Amino acid sequence: MPKALENLRQDFPLLARYPELVYLNSAATSQKPLRVIEALARYYKEQNASIHRGAYTLSAQASEAYEEARRTLARFIGAQAHEVIFVRNTTEALNLVAYAWGLRNLREGDVILLSEMEHHANLVPWHLVAERTGAVVRGIPLHPEGRLDLSSLKDLLTERVRVVGLTHVSNVLGTVNPVAQVAQVARAVGALVVVDGAQSAPHMPVRVRELGADFYAFSGHKMLGPTGIGVLWGRAEILQNLPPFLGGGGMIGEVYLDRSTYAAPPARFEAGTPAVAEAIGLAAAAEYLMEVGLNRVWQHEQELLQYALKRLDEELPEVRTFGPRGADRGGVIPFTLGHLHAHDVATALDQQGIAVRAGHHCAQPLHRWLGVPATVRASFYIYTTHEDIDRFIEALKKVRDFFKDWL
Ligand code: PMP
Repeated sequence: MPKALENLRQDFPLLARYPELVYLNSAATSQKPLRVIEALARYYKEQNASIHRGAYTLSAQASEAYEEARRTLARFIGAQAHEVIFVRNTTEALNLVAYAWGLRNLREGDVILLSEMEHHANLVPWHLVAERTGAVVRGIPLHPEGRLDLSSLKDLLTERVRVVGLTHVSNVLGTVNPVAQVAQVARAVGALVVVDGAQSAPHMPVRVRELGADFYAFSGHKMLGPTGIGVLWGRAEILQNLPPFLGGGGMIGEVYLDRSTYAAPPARFEAGTPAVAEAIGLAAAAEYLMEVGLNRVWQHEQELLQYALKRLDEELPEVRTFGPRGADRGGVIPFTLGHLHAHDVATALDQQGIAVRAGHHCAQPLHRWLGVPATVRASFYIYTTHEDIDRFIEALKKVRDFFKDWL
């Protein structure tokens, strides 16, 4: 019988250690359940060896554990194991696509179309590749409530568009973008569809093929897993023809002094000794999430989100929240309090044991569009409770009362 989500906190040693901590920064990084921490420790205590290289039993076992982790992650997103590439994080995954695909395929005047709510991880790699290839970056604009302006796609999606890069869920607004719908029209003009899944993979069921994307990237550390490990999923038929991003051991076919041939995917994209323990830890996190059920995770966060928004609306009129109000919104609340700077609000909350993030959240174009330099962001996850929200609201009221003459 799965446990009620309100009781999961005890599975997380850090949260158990600090019972007074209200951790509302899971969009930046999540806490880790004991099972993940133990999977890492067990690997080092019982299996540690160089993988895919040694002829000895321990190496074969470690290699098998790493490949088993790949199969688990494939199951997690409804993909084939050979389409799952282990990388360090979403940032590295998106750089891999931009460099490996972009440098080979983009030409002067080609268009890279990115939404105005992208994280810098899905902007800067494209800027770097645009500089080298002469391609240009254009934006998909937003409606005032923080949804994509889909009507703009008719004019934007010309034959020159070679890449459409889109976040599945905004790390600031929580907006769930209609990826399948955008992917369909983007692919109709022959554009590559690259989805940033950093904020969707941890929180909702994702079947990559149904999204209609060509690439989907996510980070382990935001989905209960270790840091230093993430996944790039790519369509097998695209990976097959994609040149490597990094070169070195483990990714080759044959190497001569002056040239090399490359291994088939996914090995082609995993140069050097991989993060074996972290991949195994991430698989333990994926198993944990699948046991709880991603639908329940989503439902739980929806309930918390609606509860928190209602209380903020009714009890704190000085708080301005951003993001769409509807079912297409994840458990993230960006806000400002009067004219106070976001960092002052976050510091005052921290003094009351509430951990939130303040700043531009690596989305400067979006904040320019919002018209504020920074927001405070409260984000929820599987272990967040109604009591956490209550303590957050009460703490925010104290901040408001303390600063009332400056609001
Ligand atoms: N994209 C989105 C939407 C994110 O929220 C984040 C993390 N804040 C990233 C990309 C980058 O993730 P990482 O730092 O793990 O590479």
